[in-house]
Amino acid sequence: MNEIAVPEPRPGLRAVEVYQPPQPQVPVRLNTNECPYPLPPAFVDDLASFLRDAELHRYPDREARRLRGLLAERFGVGPERLWVAGGSNEILQQVLLAYGGPGRRALVLEPTYHMYARLAWITHTDVERVPVEAPFVLGPDHVRRAGAVRAAVTFVCSPNNPTGNAQPLEVVEELARSVAGLVVVDEAYVEFGGKSAVGLVDSCPNVMVVRTFSKAFALAGARLGYCLAQPAVVEDLRRVRLPYHVSALTQAAGRAALRHADEAMAILDAVRRQRDRIVRELERMEGVEVFPSEANFVLFRPSRSAGAVWQALVDRGVLVRDVSDVVPGCLRVTAGTPEEAGAFIAALREAV
Ligand code: PMP
Repeated sequence: MNEIAVPEPRPGLRAVEVYQPPQPQVPVRLNTNECPYPLPPAFVDDLASFLRDAELHRYPDREARRLRGLLAERFGVGPERLWVAGGSNEILQQVLLAYGGPGRRALVLEPTYHMYARLAWITHTDVERVPVEAPFVLGPDHVRRAGAVRAAVTFVCSPNNPTGNAQPLEVVEELARSVAGLVVVDEAYVEFGGKSAVGLVDSCPNVMVVRTFSKAFALAGARLGYCLAQPAVVEDLRRVRLPYHVSALTQAAGRAALRHADEAMAILDAVRRQRDRIVRELERMEGVEVFPSEANFVLFRPSRSAGAVWQALVDRGVLVRDVSDVVPGCLRVTAGTPEEAGAFIAALREAV
């Protein structure tokens, strides 16, 4: 009899590390840029009343019509320009499934959100990189180099993760005019700062804006993202989506979150205050270089090794993100509650 073994996967797959940055269980968790405050009780009541009437034995609305309708109202556009998926990560994946693929190029302006390159690999799309040096702001030279790549998909993250700076809107527009392919403007953090490219979707039909409920809407646990794009782009994403890719529970959570959007937006100032406080405190600290931020996190570079400082913070009960693989020597901290930010600042003082 033949030996039966686990078959060989796709070439190179086993060389790819499972995406799982360390998440030790410590009290102060400032590593994933979530909102530090839970949703208001009225949101929970809304969702609970949905659950009482929900027909969960049926599949959800494939087109998420009510949720897209609410989003469309919010942006003053037709629902055919809106699309939703399980987190903005799934939108990014759908973009690459529809516009990437073998023999096509995705352009990433590094340092940036590492998932762009990873999703490109997953979807068999070639990756081209244009480096952007500190202070990580795009300018005419990057636009020229990006234009020469002739990428099918170009990713712009603004405010950029993990550097925190926003990109000038006129440069994003220039970029859209000089690359032939789709320009994906990832605005996961735009509610905290920077100018939105939503207005460009009309004037530059190759621009799409990707957003998430995970950060400012405090709904990371529900997994919901959306995008604004030309109707033809939305149609292309519909062609690659899995049937019923957004559950009825997630759609209901999104609708409830939009009904309570004012409460969610009211706490953004509190988060920004902690971000600015962290920047100010780190500027004063010896042995730390800190970068300005328009997002809900702060990038900093200790003069000691990033790994050693990360561990020293964990030892003091504070978890931040080691991003030294993306920006050499750097760590990234999420702006939490005043107590969490205070605990981080005190721990860092000892750790550096
Ligand atoms: N884009 C950026 C820039 C992010 O930082 C993140 C999450 N860290 C995402 C997209 C994905 O977020 P989600 O899938 O939760 O919407």
